[in-house]
Amino acid sequence: YDDRDGKIWYDGKLVDWRDANVHILTHAMHYASSVFEGQRAYGGTVFELTRHSQRLHKSAKIMGMSMPFSVEEIDQACKDVLEANGLVDAYLRPVAWRGPEEMGVAAQKTKTHVAVAAWEWGDYFADKAKGIRLDIAPWRRPAPYTAPVDAKAAGLYMICTMSKHHAADRGFDDALMMDWRGQVAEATGANAFFVKDGVLHTPTPDCFLNGITRQTVMDLAKRRGIEVVERAIWPEELEEMQQFFLTGSAAEVTPVRSAGPWNFEVGELTLGLMNDYSKLVRGQLSNS
Ligand code: PMP
Repeated sequence: YDDRDGKIWYDGKLVDWRDANVHILTHAMHYASSVFEGQRAYGGTVFELTRHSQRLHKSAKIMGMSMPFSVEEIDQACKDVLEANGLVDAYLRPVAWRGPEEMGVAAQKTKTHVAVAAWEWGDYFADKAKGIRLDIAPWRRPAPYTAPVDAKAAGLYMICTMSKHHAADRGFDDALMMDWRGQVAEATGANAFFVKDGVLHTPTPDCFLNGITRQTVMDLAKRRGIEVVERAIWPEELEEMQQFFLTGSAAEVTPVRSAGPWNFEVGELTLGLMNDYSKLVRGQLSNS
């Protein structure tokens, strides 16, 4: 990913892709003092751009990191990166991290650095349309009193990468993670929804990200007159669920064919929401 042409927005300037580097003593690399975003542009327009920039700010605040750029400046940085790279349909990755100005657990003297990169990224899952297969993750989402679970913070992703690799080694596309109580939480980079008798069920986001796509899909479902129930979901209940799909800025709406021992159909309701979402992000469905 590093050795290529293009531009990256880095601390307020567009720099050459190859020169967008950090020092070895970058605090974030040693202590995971980094927060990030991920969003997509469709036809040149970033879907929910400001909400992503706001969430970056919120994540930084939760982590006690100062933010040298306003939400508006980060919005503009995203637009500038798309333009500088001639991108129309792309994935954007804003990131903010503590730099090398101080080394050690205490990091009050570090500066927050901010960058935005963008590149073309097709479907997050190769078999998206026919439904993906999930493993059950060996790691659980941490309790809210053990980690800053409302921040999109790099440190929370180590168990996601390990779970995803564990799943891939066993031939699966991704992994479904339970939370510390044993309730169903989410996949390694996307939220979970289930369909049972025409009703949508989704775990209450009390120890994982309440995704922007998740909130968007809940609105889309309500517009279709579908009842949405947010509640604790136990793994045993998956036996009774007829459909299962994931939501995320990268994953969009992705049907799930199986999760551990449980199988699901790629049904009408899932496909309908998948279609609504793909229209909405392209401005082909009104936003209200
Ligand atoms: N959970 C995790 C762990 C994620 O990484 C993501 C992707 N940001 C999501 C959920 C979905 O969030 P969003 O819809 O805002 O992209």
